[in-house]
Amino acid sequence: MNQIRLYATLPRKSAEKVAATLERALEDEGVPISAFEADADAVLWTVSLYAPADEPQRFQTTLEAALGEHGLDVPVETETLGDTDWVTLSLQGLAPVRAGRFIVHGSHDSDVPQPHEYGLLIDAGQAFGTGHHGTTSGCLEAIGEILKRRTFRRVLDLGTGSGVLAIGYASAARRKALATDIDPVAVAVARDNCRINHVASLVKCVTATGFRHRQIAASAPYDLIIANILAGPLQSMATSFARHAAPGSVAILSGLLPHQQTRICATFRAHGFAFRQKRIRDGWLTLTLEKSLTPQAAAYAADAYNSRRMDAVAAGPVTSWTV
Ligand code: SAH
Repeated sequence: MNQIRLYATLPRKSAEKVAATLERALEDEGVPISAFEADADAVLWTVSLYAPADEPQRFQTTLEAALGEHGLDVPVETETLGDTDWVTLSLQGLAPVRAGRFIVHGSHDSDVPQPHEYGLLIDAGQAFGTGHHGTTSGCLEAIGEILKRRTFRRVLDLGTGSGVLAIGYASAARRKALATDIDPVAVAVARDNCRINHVASLVKCVTATGFRHRQIAASAPYDLIIANILAGPLQSMATSFARHAAPGSVAILSGLLPHQQTRICATFRAHGFAFRQKRIRDGWLTLTLEKSLTPQAAAYAADAYNSRRMDAVAAGPVTSWTV
């Protein structure tokens, strides 16, 4: 059946509220609703609902009512989509993404990697991580960059989603990594993707919440931990994070917004990590940190943090970038 897309473009906060109202209003009808950035700065967002084309007026009224409920007087726009195979459309929509030395592409893409690139074959599916999100591409760039400087023996990708980061690391380094996710469906997807990308013998995938898993403890301490899982969980995991990180190890953190940098850096500095690099992709921040080589430096920072001398934490002991 033909479909129409009804949409309105709004400031982000309003878009989130309208999308939530629409979800409540249409939850029994199975009408897809989306909210995504309309511009590169993510100031404006577009809220869309995809409805059967035979009842445009009813869904237009629903969207107008949702806008009205939040006091928004913006026009509803319409696009006719025709008879659509949604799976194919969603796959076609995902053009290959280049991130540093990596190109993430779907199986429908003939866009083969250049000789200097690592091709990661990830189809859109039930797990996060196709390379299209600024956090994923930021992490891939950071991984490519750090591999130019160092090699690692024990690597953990915490919150692996589709497995994209562990697969990227293992493809480039040809070394082992442990990939974990709280979501068993993501772990199954990651396992499949490892097989498809010929790194199943290098990447082990397990279901785990945070650092709580026998396998995670067994392979610690890590000299590279990658975690793309948002500021809140990262902050609350900082102590376990540090406990599992070897002196001199590297942490690549993402899922962060630029204004969260100071808070995350202060927390991790208190656990012995110094700031090394940042990159912002599509408004998302990815940090590269390095854990102090000396236990004394780490103890100093923890002590300063515990006594809430945040100025001392911020000034902290300086370690050098180990090449
Ligand atoms: N690493 C992928 C996916 C990031 S999305 C990429 O960079 O694209 C974040 C993933 O972290 C999700 O798959 C989510 O299920 C997982 N996650 C969230 N909280 C977690 C936790 N406490 N422990 C383990 N995994 C977690």
